[in-house]
Amino acid sequence: MPVIVDKIADALHLQSHKSTFDSNVTVIFVLGGPGAGKGTQCARLVEDFAFCHLSAGDLLRAEQHREGSEYGQLIQTCIKEGTIVPMEVTVKLLEKAMTATLEEHKSGDGWADSRGRFLIDGFPRKMDQAEMFEHDVGKATAVLFFSTTQEVMLERLLERGKTSGREDDNVESIKKRFNTYKDQTMPVIKHYEKLGKVIEIDSSVSIEEVHQKTKSAVANLLSGSTA
Ligand code: ADP
Ligand code: AMP
Repeated sequence: MPVIVDKIADALHLQSHKSTFDSNVTVIFVLGGPGAGKGTQCARLVEDFAFCHLSAGDLLRAEQHREGSEYGQLIQTCIKEGTIVPMEVTVKLLEKAMTATLEEHKSGDGWADSRGRFLIDGFPRKMDQAEMFEHDVGKATAVLFFSTTQEVMLERLLERGKTSGREDDNVESIKKRFNTYKDQTMPVIKHYEKLGKVIEIDSSVSIEEVHQKTKSAVANLLSGSTA
């Protein structure tokens, strides 16, 4: 909208609600069960397309350990119990990280002229955070959904647990994470499916095979979007 029209609309209170980022910023949500391979594939997509990869789980773990954080204890409990950290915390952390990245003026495809492209990994895990993000922060272009069986995810998480040092890569926490995923996150995926925004990729096969399929789907997506 031209600036003058914007100002008039503001003055007349005709302006619809404005989120922090506009259509210059491409946002792809990345979902799938715990251990489905989201982080692994996001790392590849960063190489392919110059995305900024923001993992909600990583941001929460960093906040948990940040000196002086008022949320440290809350986040630790949620992670161990496999439950959802309240949306006010998670959405704010993501918004802050996106703003900081845009202020860095990254170079590479999709980053010229205040544009940007983000992979938001492990988010939204619950309907309320999807709504809050899309209302306050920005619209999602698409959802990448990595799907596989619980058996595959369990095996991968237990293997990862041997070296990850994560407090939630153990059988007890994993079971709780699976339940949260089924009860809270699947409805989010169904919601975006109804909007025709979900790209489902079978992540049961090798990292390389999943990567090839994902890369080609994302190339198609970006060729039809602004950033
Ligand atoms: P998520 O981010 O979805 O929790 P990760 O990307 O961390 O999952 O993957 C979980 C574990 O499984 C990691 O140890 C990773 O190396 C491994 N992994 C990921 N994708 C595959 C795959 N396609 N085949 C085999 N192992 C995989
Ligand atoms: P992850 O690193 O994606 O496996 O997430 C680890 C844990 O962090 C989850 O089990 C949740 O407790 C918390 N978490 C990750 N993403 C979110 C999110 N989008 N909203 C709330 N909590 C989250």
